[in-house]
Amino acid sequence: MDVLIPLLAVLFPGRCVGCGVAPAALCPDCLARARPGPAAPGPSPPPGVDWWVAAFAYEGAVREGLARVKYRNARSALPLLADALVERLRQPPPPGPVDVVTWPPTSAGRRRQRGFDQAEHLARAVGRGLDVPVRRSLVRRAGGPAQTGRTARERRHGPVFGARSVAGQRVLVVDDVATTGATLAAAAASLRSAGATWVGAATVARTPLRAGPSRGAASGADRSRGAQGTAPGSRYSR
Ligand SMILES: [Zn+2]
Repeated sequence: MDVLIPLLAVLFPGRCVGCGVAPAALCPDCLARARPGPAAPGPSPPPGVDWWVAAFAYEGAVREGLARVKYRNARSALPLLADALVERLRQPPPPGPVDVVTWPPTSAGRRRQRGFDQAEHLARAVGRGLDVPVRRSLVRRAGGPAQTGRTARERRHGPVFGARSVAGQRVLVVDDVATTGATLAAAAASLRSAGATWVGAATVARTPLRAGPSRGAASGADRSRGAQGTAPGSRYSR
């Protein structure tokens, strides 16, 4: 059963979260109606990040589509979202060359549970799209027990990463969602300490800007996913 259920979820991902008709987790028509992310340069990036871009606002069909990727293994939405992110990175492109594309890896427990890392998938698509090498430059550290989903430290400050040498390089970090920005800030700090000269960030979606940090945003620290395996609508911010 452990194998069968994820397999069925991949084979029959259900219908589009936007229209309920198209036989994919998210269809091109619904994605075309999604609100784009802020125009560059937009709001200030998280600490340590020089430049950032998001293809969409984290709401509606995009939010639900990403939740299905995470919690129901509905990978059918990923290529579409990856294509949109690549498009967004072309118009306008990052300010200056990018030497390497990387991603903040999900915890080993999460990866085992889902069988893939959606951030890695997106990073590889972006690397192909921009013709830039993709490297596993970030290593997750201080992971809590998988059953609890995240540690108390992660709830407060985001995860901790180590970085392989990126000395003198301009690095683009790709992830699915930015909410508090804590994951991107943690990744940027690690990459800078490993010698990166520039850190950009590209996410499929970003939380629309609110007036001041809300209590909810603070408690929804990066990479939090609420209870494991729950349906969309549960807390799944990062
Ligand atoms: Zn649709």
